[in-house]
Amino acid sequence: MGTASGTAAAGMVVVGAGECGTRAAFELREAGWPGPITLVGAENVLPYERPPLSKSVLTGSEGACRPTPLCDARALQDAGIEFIAGVEVTGIDRDRHQAVLADGRRITYQRLLLATGARARRLPPAGADVGGVRYLRSHADALVLRDRLRPGARIGVIGAGFIGLELAAAAAARGCAVTVIEAAPRPLSRAVPAAIATTVADRHRQAGVDLRCGAAVERLTRRNGTLSLELGGGEVLECDTVVAGVGAVPETESAEKAGLAVDNGIRVDARLTTSDPDIFAAGDCCSFPHPLYGGRRIRLEAWRNAQDQGRAAARNMLGDDQPFAAVPWFWSDQFDLTLQIAGLPDTAAQEVVRHRPDGVTVRFGIGTDGRLLSAAAVGTGNAVARDIRLAELLIARRATPDPAALSDPATALKALLRQAPS
Ligand SMILES: Cc1cc2nc3c(=O)[nH]c(=O)nc-3n(C[C@H](O)[C@H](O)[C@H](O)COP(=O)(O)OP(=O)(O)OC[C@H]3O[C@@H](n4cnc5c(N)ncnc54)[C@H](O)[C@@H]3O)c2cc1C
Repeated sequence: MGTASGTAAAGMVVVGAGECGTRAAFELREAGWPGPITLVGAENVLPYERPPLSKSVLTGSEGACRPTPLCDARALQDAGIEFIAGVEVTGIDRDRHQAVLADGRRITYQRLLLATGARARRLPPAGADVGGVRYLRSHADALVLRDRLRPGARIGVIGAGFIGLELAAAAAARGCAVTVIEAAPRPLSRAVPAAIATTVADRHRQAGVDLRCGAAVERLTRRNGTLSLELGGGEVLECDTVVAGVGAVPETESAEKAGLAVDNGIRVDARLTTSDPDIFAAGDCCSFPHPLYGGRRIRLEAWRNAQDQGRAAARNMLGDDQPFAAVPWFWSDQFDLTLQIAGLPDTAAQEVVRHRPDGVTVRFGIGTDGRLLSAAAVGTGNAVARDIRLAELLIARRATPDPAALSDPATALKALLRQAPS
């Protein structure tokens, strides 16, 4: 981890050393940028993967609780990337083309990428002010939680989204007594077809998780280290630890202060350029128009999107002019189940269901124009990966497969791909 060279030759500056920023920094070099590259990260560690934080870091052996590195110090050095860790970028001086660091340093940029990610959404003040509520976003958060997931510990999880449910699965696997409180009528209501959410919910209940939907936390109190969750009907749940998984908020502060357009994330165009042509944004922090969905502006909190956008932004920073059009893709692991989703299920007008002979069901979403817009499935191990991958290729090609063929497990998706426009 070096120190920045101040205002020397203007280079490429990447703010945020998560999945997106780190991939972008390496891509800048791989794509041939010969000048300085500086990667600035607020966390005082080497870049690491977040998905294991709610999975193996919580459940695995002592060794598994180390962060999964995205790269080591040597790789950064070999690529000539100056990595500044543990320091926030607090401002962008757009007139001088300088990133301003919390410690007063200024780094001159030719082009700058904001890859600042997101932070865990806090509970509304009525719940949060008692203190002691935990969140899960960073490796440091995961270590605190891991320590609390002891057999018999009473764990209250607020929110049955991906983070809440992965955490509940991990806590149950560690022998905790887990209750999940979800205000919506079903879990995973934001992005997952209802039938798939039901399969996931059933698996939780089978493992002993007390999953309560349509239940709101009215009040949170704390006495002698015990947190009490008071529910709508007056029931009180006593917990040793309460974790809130109530979504994430894009990290837009430095962009806003710099006067960049923000709209559910830092607003970028199809090339991932912000309202300043020399500043780009990518990953969890940005909202972008998706060409496969009629230019609808979306923000994705997904690992592969962060990787792909980081690389795409890097190339566009060097002068490419490529719109970002990758098919959204997301996975989640809970117990022995893996769930995968390609595309945006909420854009579909019609659902077509394929019941495979092995018991796996794939749910396709079709648009009013007959186009395949999404595919989602849940199964054990790697059972769903191939179908979702093929569906992803069909979505990317704007294919309009015959719904009868899609629903018929005897028709290979590969055959439909061969018929699709290339
Ligand atoms: C617990 C957990 C589990 C997940 N599991 C899955 C999964 O199973 N599947 C999946 O597809 N996705 C998963 N995700 C989502 C995925 O990890 C994220 O989409 C991805 O990490 C986003 O990468 P990013 O680089 O955009 O943002 P981040 O990973 O949030 O990185 C942003 C970095 O920027 C830093 N930063 C912010 N502001 C500044 C500043 N001003 N100056 C300097 N640094 C700054 C932050 O400290 C952070 O290190 C999970 C996320 C979490 C939290």
